[in-house]
Amino acid sequence: MRFHRSVLAVVCISAAATLALSDEPTNPKPKERPRERKEWSSGIVWPEPKAIDPGSATVPPSDAVVLFDGANMLKWVGGDAWEVKDGYAISRKSSIKTKDSFGDCQLHIEFATPAEVKGSGQGRGNSGVIMMDRYEIQILDSFDNRTYFDGQCGAVYKQTPPMVNCCRRPGEWQTYDILWEAPRFNAYGTMERPAYVTVLQNGIVVQNHTELYGTTGYDHPPKYEKHPDRAPIQLQFHGNPLRFRNIWMREIKPLVDKKPA
Ligand code: MG
Repeated sequence: MRFHRSVLAVVCISAAATLALSDEPTNPKPKERPRERKEWSSGIVWPEPKAIDPGSATVPPSDAVVLFDGANMLKWVGGDAWEVKDGYAISRKSSIKTKDSFGDCQLHIEFATPAEVKGSGQGRGNSGVIMMDRYEIQILDSFDNRTYFDGQCGAVYKQTPPMVNCCRRPGEWQTYDILWEAPRFNAYGTMERPAYVTVLQNGIVVQNHTELYGTTGYDHPPKYEKHPDRAPIQLQFHGNPLRFRNIWMREIKPLVDKKPA
């Protein structure tokens, strides 16, 4: 009886091995019926987005307006007051502003606060990107340098602190990528929609579609006063020699003014 069981087991294993090695599937799956694929379409007919070259870390996108490429400050009113050296501009003497005016835009700018640390608080590496000549995004050496939080680097000055402090060390290059939505005024001069700003500092979001409450003066509360749809971008001189390079902007324009029907 024991002998017969052993023989039976060998026969079964051999049969299973034979089946496993054969080409025929032991348990063929039923054939799947091909699914009918339907593409969903909204029915809205969009124009084709324009193709651009996105550039690289050192080359601006092909549709950008280059405001400083390292050679000269010809695009800036007062630019001759700043020193251009080794491909960067150093803030000297006075604030400068673009000769052209801009509304909604994407602005890229690289800056470095002085490597040699002097002063403290607002007196250390102070500058600023002042959108539309009125609304300051603060530049400051906020690396291990405390000040009032709505006045530190990445703040909408005197309104909203940055969500985090992601400053690099003094003297190191840093980037700002600013998405700016200009305020809208009606014919009576009343603000209908406030300005909004999104700021990435060194690739980190520090302002996310932040509402501006008005102008950003240091000695008065924010307020809106009607101004043109477009205005210059200002770079602040606040007594400290900062370096700047690779400044460009792109106008933000929706693909179409009105969503197609
Ligand atoms: Mg400032």
